[in-house]
Amino acid sequence: MIQLKNYINDEFLEPIQNEWLDNYNPSNGSVYGQLPNSSLEDVNLAYEAAKKAFESWSQTSLEKRSAILLKIARLIEDNLNRFAEAESKDNGKPITLAKSIDIPRAASNFRFFGHAITQFHSESHETKSEKTINYTLRHPLGVVGCISPWNLPLYLLTWKIAPALAAGNCVIAKPSEITPYTAFLLGEICNEAGLPKGVLNIVHGLGTTTGQAIVEHPNIKAISFTGGTETGKIIAKTAAPMFKKISLELGGKNPNIIFADCDYEKMLTTTVKSSFSNQGQICLCGSRIFVEASLFEQFKTDFIERVSQLTVGHPSNESTQVGALVSKAHIEKVLSFIDRVDSNGGKLLHGGKRVRIKGHEDGYYLTPTIIQVDSNSCHLNQEEIFGPVVTIMPFDSEYKVLEMANDVKYGLSATVWTNNLKRSLFFSEQLECGIIWVNTWMQRDLRTPFGGIKSSGVGREGGFEALRFFTETKNICINYE
Ligand code: NDP
Repeated sequence: MIQLKNYINDEFLEPIQNEWLDNYNPSNGSVYGQLPNSSLEDVNLAYEAAKKAFESWSQTSLEKRSAILLKIARLIEDNLNRFAEAESKDNGKPITLAKSIDIPRAASNFRFFGHAITQFHSESHETKSEKTINYTLRHPLGVVGCISPWNLPLYLLTWKIAPALAAGNCVIAKPSEITPYTAFLLGEICNEAGLPKGVLNIVHGLGTTTGQAIVEHPNIKAISFTGGTETGKIIAKTAAPMFKKISLELGGKNPNIIFADCDYEKMLTTTVKSSFSNQGQICLCGSRIFVEASLFEQFKTDFIERVSQLTVGHPSNESTQVGALVSKAHIEKVLSFIDRVDSNGGKLLHGGKRVRIKGHEDGYYLTPTIIQVDSNSCHLNQEEIFGPVVTIMPFDSEYKVLEMANDVKYGLSATVWTNNLKRSLFFSEQLECGIIWVNTWMQRDLRTPFGGIKSSGVGREGGFEALRFFTETKNICINYE
């Protein structure tokens, strides 16, 4: 049985109240470890450590901060297999995905912000007629909170921690209690990389207690949160009256719009990925597929055939393409949508069944599921399922599909497949979301702003946007007459 501990002040500590949570292995449904069910006292302990470390860390030279972040990146890469195995075991994702995407990206996050901070700049403005010069300083905020979800555990945790640390803040991080393992391993790496004690503190526990204690803490200056829209509302409600800075990356229900003039083969291959990568548990997955009517029947046949070839299997098997869903509660939630397909005017075209893997019968496996719907207003198209489930429906006109794509409360991302330049510019302009891919999906450049609109969130991460979020701006005006 693995026992994870909190990482506070560069020490691995048991929770003060000695309360523990079980950690499940989704590939077989068994409990394989325990993690702290931390209380307010643990959060306070982490805060005291972070506060003490802040004075020195915020004054540390950029070169030194950068060098430490680059070393963390290198150590994650040196430990690729260990991290990938832990991530796959904790989350149920295929080991190949953890090795090729999740863990390399966690290293890239540290490397990117280790470099970015050395290029971060502010402005100065001279007004000769008034003999003034204005210049802007950007100071780190102090102690900040980073709260992340279970779908891309280390990838998203480090996407927050790296810019926060680079900008000179000290961090209290809470990973999802469902997938805490790689965050625990990160503590060991930080120690080896020479990150001073107290600069990063990782506190495990439930969102409603540990997470809420971080959000409510009067002296934690900012909350960077990625997770569900309902949780985002609670965080905003708590943090707003305290005037904390908040960045909220929330749910999505992303349209994937396919025109008949697209590069068909590329679109088909990418659409299989954008639908079912990580068991469909990526906030950027295209879960509402709209296909131009003239292409619809061909697409339907070919898509079902390609999807039926995907291998559902144990995450540690190198040939597995679709692993286990993250938890019992989550697979039950996803199945509850599938159970209501008929009553919502949908037609199950493929999948929708639990898969029993020999020797791992209690694992949370599900066949990739394709549902045909005849209206965008059905709840299958309006609610985030966040699993291996997509809907498909035909459309006749550009205007109709644009209206349907935007007719949802979310606004995270969209994909458009067309070789018509004018059309791609029109859709890029008109789609109500923060991220648009034309003829591709999930190609990420870490310099670009990342985030959603409407119920998909507030604020942007990535590049200098993240460094701006984790700094406070102060303008100084000097008259030199
Ligand atoms: P949740 O909102 O349930 O949880 C996210 C994190 O917040 C977890 O660490 C959770 O702890 C914690 N938490 C829960 N309640 C509170 C609270 N009251 N105060 C502080 N922290 C709290 O999301 P999931 O983990 O279920 O992740 C899936 C969701 O994340 C989906 O909606 C998905 O779309 C979204 N997401 C958005 C992304 C984006 O960039 N926009 C990227 C990836 C995912 P605990 O685990 O204990 O509940």
